[in-house]
Amino acid sequence: MIELPEAIVIARQMDATLKGKQIVSGDRGNTPHKFAFANGTSEDYAAIFAGQTVGGSTAHGMSILTEIGADHTLVLGCGGERISFHTDERTLPKKHQLFVHFADGGYLTVTISGWGNTFLLPRAEVGQHPHVQQERITPLDDAFTWDYFQALFAPLPPDSKTSLKYFIVSEPGLWGLGNGCLQDILFHARLHPRRKAVATSEAERRALYDSVRATLRQMVDQGGRNDEVDLYGQPGGYRRILHSKSVGQPCPNCGAPFEKEQYLGGSIYFCPTCQVN
Ligand SMILES: [Zn+2]
Repeated sequence: MIELPEAIVIARQMDATLKGKQIVSGDRGNTPHKFAFANGTSEDYAAIFAGQTVGGSTAHGMSILTEIGADHTLVLGCGGERISFHTDERTLPKKHQLFVHFADGGYLTVTISGWGNTFLLPRAEVGQHPHVQQERITPLDDAFTWDYFQALFAPLPPDSKTSLKYFIVSEPGLWGLGNGCLQDILFHARLHPRRKAVATSEAERRALYDSVRATLRQMVDQGGRNDEVDLYGQPGGYRRILHSKSVGQPCPNCGAPFEKEQYLGGSIYFCPTCQVN
């Protein structure tokens, strides 16, 4: 699943590779399905793509925004989109849910595993789209300061049941983070996903703030996480500490075996010793 680090990495690659390309044709691919969320028919997409020039690409949160002509923006990300650039048609995937053919012979495809998004929106609507929410501050923005982060805890009542997982991925939420990046961020902060947010000390909040920034920066600098691939099909260089295959493996800090539980609609992985609950 694409989260903030992959959105940044892929947006940079799309900006460098696709900007200025002329589009011959584009549509919703050869296998549209109901978990490939879109905002129009394949014919609608074809009419918008035909003859346009690709503009710049940027990331916001988990979304990748690519300008298509003067009036539209392609919005990818937030789900299981595999976004690929091809120079050789022999490398095209058999099934895809977005297909764009460029005048210079290249192709962009999006293949969705599980569910994902290929929105082609009027540009004026992009900032307000629920997946974009342009006004929200993301954790690698300059505005994501220690003061800003601390203030997120202020509305919690003393008896709040909000856990750190819920605090990070849902409400108030750190924009661009999901259940994937969450795991290593909490490991480095030595905090358990079930820990009540309101019960954390100032020192723990500072550790969490520092971990959010440092872990995400590392993920971006290393080209994303190693179980995600970039625009050219290359896996990221960030090796996750906590993931499905690390269950039972020894914690590098203390040697205790990593554990897994189901919590809030997804798996959580943690060290039962280091991560304070
Ligand atoms: Zn440990």
